[in-house]
Amino acid sequence: MAPQDRPPSVDRLARSLVGIDLPQPLLVDAARAAIAAGDPESAAERARRIQRQLLAPVINGTGVLLHTNLGRAPLAWTQSAHYSNLELDLVTGGRGDRQAGAAALLARACGAEAAMVVNNCAAAVMLVLAALAEGRDALVSRGELVEIGGGFRVPDVMAWSGARLVEVGTTNRTRQADFAAAVSHPENDVAVVVQVHQSNFRVVGYTEAPRTAELAGLGPPLVADIGSGLLDSRCGWLNGGPPPWLDSEPAARQTLEAGAALVTFSGDKLLGGPQAGVIAGRADLVEACRRHRLARALRPGSLVLAALQHVAMAYLRNDGDAIDFWRMAALTPRQLRQRLSVYDGLKDVTTAATPGGGTLPTVEIESVGVAVTGDHTDQLRSLPRPIIARVADGATIVDLRTVHPEDDAEVAAALRRIAGPPG
Ligand SMILES: *Cc1c(COP(=O)(O)O)cnc(C)c1O
Repeated sequence: MAPQDRPPSVDRLARSLVGIDLPQPLLVDAARAAIAAGDPESAAERARRIQRQLLAPVINGTGVLLHTNLGRAPLAWTQSAHYSNLELDLVTGGRGDRQAGAAALLARACGAEAAMVVNNCAAAVMLVLAALAEGRDALVSRGELVEIGGGFRVPDVMAWSGARLVEVGTTNRTRQADFAAAVSHPENDVAVVVQVHQSNFRVVGYTEAPRTAELAGLGPPLVADIGSGLLDSRCGWLNGGPPPWLDSEPAARQTLEAGAALVTFSGDKLLGGPQAGVIAGRADLVEACRRHRLARALRPGSLVLAALQHVAMAYLRNDGDAIDFWRMAALTPRQLRQRLSVYDGLKDVTTAATPGGGTLPTVEIESVGVAVTGDHTDQLRSLPRPIIARVADGATIVDLRTVHPEDDAEVAAALRRIAGPPG
């Protein structure tokens, strides 16, 4: 900039950005940053960058059904600005219970005596251990002292709860007898036995782990952190029954039937709901969690509880089509292929979608995608409605399994633009 060119005033520069849909203070921030950098011309670009940091819908073309970066399970839920009976008992007019809706319905859906909803599964595990084992011992197999991702490390969560971690067995092989010895050891004061699902990895080869029923018979209550939130391994909400890829994923109902006193799981993984954590099982133990002083700090608000109640009702109606995650997960390759007519002129490919979300790490779900030669992921991500695609073998691929059918025409148009005219 030549010395005689005075930098424009922040206000004037901000006013020149009115075409960008942001509140005035944010336009001022962009203008001020541009001037401070000696590059007033960059103000519009900076404002657009602020815009791109806002939470907004994206089209998931990755084929990862529960993509942690994309908010895990997709969920359609709207509500009006009305008040709700969150803590009002409409029958008596007295103080109500926010756990009477979603939590009670989820308990019903997985055959638990009672349930409680908190903000996520990490909070659920921490609260259970704080309520049942604070200052006492909690037994965990060395093979289950895992990190699930996003900072959930079993030993850390146990430490926050105030429970003392007692490690049992070895990384690859732990037997019921190891647990029995730890329970009866005179120096231990065992309050709970904890079983953690190795959600995001597999140990193969020379391995052994006690079954839920074996651990449940040891005496202290068994707490099973199943993580994924599969409610029932029979999947009565799916017309075709359980999909083959569900494999040996532990389910809440069957884990409780096998004798677990409590299960904990996420709301936004295989359950297909909003971010939440669920504690379900024996009524007296759930009650101890509800009474614990941490419960107040971990409770979800009415937005989450209303959305979760909606999902729980769908399960009780056996209506998997009403749960977006299951609707997408259950699509057959044939159904996906039928949508290819919208993508006319583009190259279709067979793909391997995945459940994602730190569940079922080795599982692939046969799927269908559309491919365009070259890496165009930046371009697709910069669209007004960003399309998140992936690159394989030098081509940009959009997997149709995770794309809402109503977005097909938009995705097809975007792919045709980057592919250029045919021929
Ligand atoms: C995913 C997972 C968690 C963490 O759940 P959040 O809801 O993300 O807090 C804890 N335990 C297991 C076994 C999991 O799979």
